Amino acid sequence: MTDGTRTYLDNNASAPLRDSARAAMVAAMDVTGNPSSVHAEGRRARAIVETAREHVAELVGARPSEIVFTSGATEANNAVMDAGWKAICVSAIEHDSVLAPARACGAKVIALPASQDGVVDLGSVQEALSHAAQGGARALLSVMMANNETGVIQPVAEAADLARSLGVALHVDAVQGVGRLPVDFASLGADTLTISAHKLGGPRGVGALVIRDGVNLPALVKGGGQERRRRGGTENVVGIAGFGAAAAEVARDVEAMKRASALRDQLEASVMSLTPDAVIIGRNAARIGNTSCIAVPGKQAETLVIRMDMEGVAISAGAACTSGKVGANTVITAMGLPDSVARSAVRVSLGAETSETDIAAFLAAWQKVAGGAALAA
Ligand code: PMP
Repeated sequence: MTDGTRTYLDNNASAPLRDSARAAMVAAMDVTGNPSSVHAEGRRARAIVETAREHVAELVGARPSEIVFTSGATEANNAVMDAGWKAICVSAIEHDSVLAPARACGAKVIALPASQDGVVDLGSVQEALSHAAQGGARALLSVMMANNETGVIQPVAEAADLARSLGVALHVDAVQGVGRLPVDFASLGADTLTISAHKLGGPRGVGALVIRDGVNLPALVKGGGQERRRRGGTENVVGIAGFGAAAAEVARDVEAMKRASALRDQLEASVMSLTPDAVIIGRNAARIGNTSCIAVPGKQAETLVIRMDMEGVAISAGAACTSGKVGANTVITAMGLPDSVARSAVRVSLGAETSETDIAAFLAAWQKVAGGAALAA
């Protein structure tokens, strides 16, 4: 998306709002009534929430009854980690909204390493969790679908097989996978899965926790009894309307991802010729098509991001939620890559609206900021 002055390539942090989502939200703003009220106004508000629930369920291959709307994926991930597990086995490359509550909840936490290509190694799960699961103790395995920094696709199907054979629960953070990979909750074998609207062209501050029918989790928010007693509080009708509209569109939009993937490959080839010292992280692994994580050893990621911003191009260094802190990218560090790579890794993430013009603008800026004389400086 280039508006003449800016090129936005940070879709993994937040994607631009889709027109259909904006229109659905504007319409929902004028609907009076509490979705829990039985009168006509309440029923209209309820209809908005339930239509959105159907669209979100369809996007991830779940039943509408399995969708619980939340304030976003952070809340959903926190709720799953806080559900009273004795042991939690997490991949070391999970998002902080999984890692931080897992570490804080009092469960025994076992971190699974990742390969240098950014794929989580499930080799030690069996040993780690078979003890924990013995005697019926509640244990959880948490593996994300695709990493937000590198785009590397994680072995969630294998994780599901392992979880089933060990009798432990499986949580999948699918925030960066939904809309970019086919997701079918019904056959995935996960107990819970998280989604965030603003990564799909919906609004910020709304998401969903998908809970397999029959799985019992403590209420995310107590009191009020909304969302089948699983999350109390009057629903965010406007946000949910936007989420539903974005979900409906994403499901039809597979061509956009193919386009983004071709543009990403073109961008990486040009980056390697402009900056031959650059390292494309996770290049040898299967990745979602929109993400590129590029390190230029010797450079500082934050400096690259600021200088690209001054050239009119938005990219990121580390997860947006943790930026502001200068240091090594924790995901890259967990992959065992050298500090010089972890400190210089930037993320370029394309979206449904990214065009050839955006890629050209990125490359022109990259050449100035990271290429040739700049690299030697
Ligand atoms: N998980 C992953 C993998 C993410 O990329 C993000 C967003 N950075 C989140 C969770 C948190 O999502 P939200 O912004 O909806 O809280």
